[in-house]
Amino acid sequence: MNRKALFPGSFDPITRGHESIVLRALPLFDEIIVAIGINEQKKSLFPLEQRKEWIKKVFSDYPSVEVITYEGLTVDLCRRLDISYILRGLRTSADFEFERSIGQMNKKMLPDLETVFLLTIPEHTALNSGIVRDIIRNGGDASQFIPEGINITNDFRK
Ligand code: ADP
Repeated sequence: MNRKALFPGSFDPITRGHESIVLRALPLFDEIIVAIGINEQKKSLFPLEQRKEWIKKVFSDYPSVEVITYEGLTVDLCRRLDISYILRGLRTSADFEFERSIGQMNKKMLPDLETVFLLTIPEHTALNSGIVRDIIRNGGDASQFIPEGINITNDFRK
């Protein structure tokens, strides 16, 4: 059986927290599709294509990881691509409450879908893309929070 998981998010930008969740999930699935959601209401700092390129670069050594972009409901994408698992990371109890309602609503809409959660490693509990964006916007050095090999500061200023 081909176990496909979808890892949806905004990845604005990808952080070491996202990277770690995907790498730890590799043994659980045959394929992991990192899906960047396009949300017109949520203004992103980095262009979609740039975010996609960074994620592709981070996982270039892992043929089972694919990167796509999508619009609309995550459950519709899962139906279209025949995906049975959604992968999510859990940092805090706030994440849990948020994820619980989304996961339960998704299950109502697509009963065969299961959401699989991985607890973040303790070092990544406080890490989120919003804070990384603030650091970069204000000219700080965010390199310890983003995957190796990605120079976001320089790319951003180009
Ligand atoms: P963020 O919450 O940082 O803006 P996204 O909306 O792109 O990130 O989230 C995509 C997925 O990645 C979510 O399941 C989120 O919980 C998970 N995630 C984000 N940051 C981390 C982290 N530091 N550790 C574990 N999981 C994370």
